[in-house]
Amino acid sequence: MSEKTILIIEDEEDILALIHYNLTKDGYRVMGTASGEEGLEAALRNRPDLILLDLMLPGLNGIEVCRKLKAAPDTASIPIIMVTAKGEEPDIVAGLEMGADDYLTKPFSIRVLSARVKAVLRRPRAEMAPDRDQAAIHIHELIIHPGRKEVLAEGEPVDLTFTEFHVLHYLASRPGWVFTRYQIVNAVRGEDYSVTDRAVDVQIVGLRKKLGRYGKYIETVRGVGYRFRD
Ligand code: CA
Repeated sequence: MSEKTILIIEDEEDILALIHYNLTKDGYRVMGTASGEEGLEAALRNRPDLILLDLMLPGLNGIEVCRKLKAAPDTASIPIIMVTAKGEEPDIVAGLEMGADDYLTKPFSIRVLSARVKAVLRRPRAEMAPDRDQAAIHIHELIIHPGRKEVLAEGEPVDLTFTEFHVLHYLASRPGWVFTRYQIVNAVRGEDYSVTDRAVDVQIVGLRKKLGRYGKYIETVRGVGYRFRD
């Protein structure tokens, strides 16, 4: 397998050095840049396999960098992990809705960093996803069958509403990914127009209840949204 390239955009020297050192040790080719402008340029020039993007940058901030990366055809499909400080949840939500793949909150452990990077690099890129939409999902003790709109928990059918089914299917089709309420609404809209931002929470409560002990796989990510545990 060819060496994966990771671009870091981080203005704090110590953190940049720490991430750079550890990812290099993990066997990646690592590039470090200290500003949004430099980072954008490096991304366009080098087309890395993954970008670690600090959100609090002087000048062009991380959200702007994310927007520009996702808007440019050459960089749109490069996965982005945002690096944020506590209390930046609105930015995390904005970034995820703009197409960022994941985020890390400072301070984070090197072990967590390594695991997230590995997980994101392993994920199929978004444009490769369509054929998964109709295949049954086998995860933990659950089988989610989109064609039949059926969920089995250890072989036993779970009685879900149409909307609950779609919310569950959407989350479980990308385990480990965090989705904002807005993304969930968008994904299930067209099936049921009555779904609003707040109503997503209600759907989740109903889903967890009906899934019983499997409900724990739907995790709340405080201030951000929901994730199906991988
Ligand atoms: Ca910073």
